[in-house]
Amino acid sequence: MFNTIYIEEKAYEYHITRQLLHKYVDSEVVTIRHYKDVFNRPKQNLAVQKRYPSLILAVKDGQFLYEGPVVCQSFDHPNFYYTSFLLNCVFDCEYCFLQGMYPSANIVAFVNVEDFKEAMKDLLHSRKKVFLAVSYDTDLIAFHNIIPYLQYFYDFFASHPDMLAEVRTKSANQAFYNDYQPLKNLIIAFTLAPDEIIKKYERHTPSLKSRINAVKAATARGFSVRICFDPVFADPEMEDAYKEFYHHVFTQIDPGSILDVGYGFFRMPVDFFKRIEKVRSSSLLYAKEYFVKGNVVSYPEPVMERIKTEHLEILEKYIKKEKIFTL
Ligand code: SF4
Repeated sequence: MFNTIYIEEKAYEYHITRQLLHKYVDSEVVTIRHYKDVFNRPKQNLAVQKRYPSLILAVKDGQFLYEGPVVCQSFDHPNFYYTSFLLNCVFDCEYCFLQGMYPSANIVAFVNVEDFKEAMKDLLHSRKKVFLAVSYDTDLIAFHNIIPYLQYFYDFFASHPDMLAEVRTKSANQAFYNDYQPLKNLIIAFTLAPDEIIKKYERHTPSLKSRINAVKAATARGFSVRICFDPVFADPEMEDAYKEFYHHVFTQIDPGSILDVGYGFFRMPVDFFKRIEKVRSSSLLYAKEYFVKGNVVSYPEPVMERIKTEHLEILEKYIKKEKIFTL
């Protein structure tokens, strides 16, 4: 899968590194001083890297946990944080903010999982209860067969019930749900979208049908499942597709088996948007007219209000209003 694996000198001594070297014997291995020497190089070709990504194994230092950004949903949890064991993703969504955040599409995997756990313990000590998004800058479930991070953190989450972890995914990989028992404090948050949107903007991701099958597998095993309709696109051609889509989703998935629903429109910090606009110069998504409020690019408020009202009218037929979180 990876033609080249870059490895920081100090990353060799970690279990994940040894496992990967054993697994990817045909990849070229390049030893590096620090992951940023490779990852932060100027003028990288993100399109080529997306098609043929290299893997960079690194030891994370400095800050391990970050406060949840305003463009992300907290689901009413006061202590909302996120962390990133992986930087970048095997999928290639046209709207992905990572393209504006990182100078490279290569994948950085941090190997020092025990240090993340120490940072989480410290945070829990000061905050008591924490909502932690662990799969914002990647898709951990899609990466599970390469590095099973959820396996490495499972016992930690099981023994720290005050840390409510959310794993966001578009993946159809069911291995984790089959191999592990559900935990009350572990939420699997599936992002679902109409197939028209998947084909248009979510390259290399599973179809709606495959994602729904994964949702069913997770709920059948008793996992706490969140459904995310996010990002929603205010595209006039898509209005009917969304309405059919919501009905379809909840005729396939028992609404009673779902923890809650997240709903949000396409939005992005202005500086990320400007960077991606240059990289994806042929993208129609970035050529459209948007509205800037504060530091965020999105749609005009009246447009979002109208569409949201229509969509919520449908969603509330299936899910109680207080279980639908909108941004
Ligand atoms: S699945 Fe998420 S992290 Fe991965 S490319 Fe798509 S938007 Fe980005």
